Amino acid sequence: MDNTPGGIPVKVKYSDRRTLSMKFDREGTLIVSAPLRMKEKEVRDFLNDNIRWIRKNYVKIAERKEEADRIRIEDGGAALYLGEELRVRFNGRCRVHKMGDELVFPDDADMDTYVRWLKARAKEYLPARLSYRAYEMGIDYRQLRISSARSKWGSCSASGQIVLAWHLMMCPPESIEYVIIHELCHRLHMDHSKAFWAEVERFMPDYKKHKKWLDDHSYIMDIL
Ligand SMILES: [Zn+2]
Repeated sequence: MDNTPGGIPVKVKYSDRRTLSMKFDREGTLIVSAPLRMKEKEVRDFLNDNIRWIRKNYVKIAERKEEADRIRIEDGGAALYLGEELRVRFNGRCRVHKMGDELVFPDDADMDTYVRWLKARAKEYLPARLSYRAYEMGIDYRQLRISSARSKWGSCSASGQIVLAWHLMMCPPESIEYVIIHELCHRLHMDHSKAFWAEVERFMPDYKKHKKWLDDHSYIMDIL
């Protein structure tokens, strides 16, 4: 089976499992996991039953891919900084800087230049926000490490080390605050229990909106 009824690319993987499940990969192929001896007709019925979900999510992934493709350090490209999409402009031998809705680069800049700039911004911005929030919330932590791991926006270890991804510098300030609050709340609860989320909500009543932005934009960790 290569396509869904709606023409969306599908790959069926058979394995030793009991139920059917599906998810999209980053390229927009629907990966269906099916039990070993399941008949193709059953898989087809499953896809037909879920066609609305499949279409909706396929469109979402296509839109994200388009957004990701816009991020390029070249003429006509765009760069993300604190949730804003800035136009890329080259200007001789200048240092990277933001001017209005433009991010200005030296003529020889490329993606690495942009990454180095974001990492340098992260080293200033994230420690300042984290120590401010920790003070305000009355929660302590041991140290902050800024990471390049693409799998997570942040984490907090049992010993109190907080890790934040420099990729956060591409996200809106409110979403960065949400990650910081989330990790600090792990100092109170090392799980994602109801009690944990109640603490997050206490410190940031509208956190769901900012969490959703991050969930919808996790692809930006893969661009760089
Ligand atoms: Zn967590």
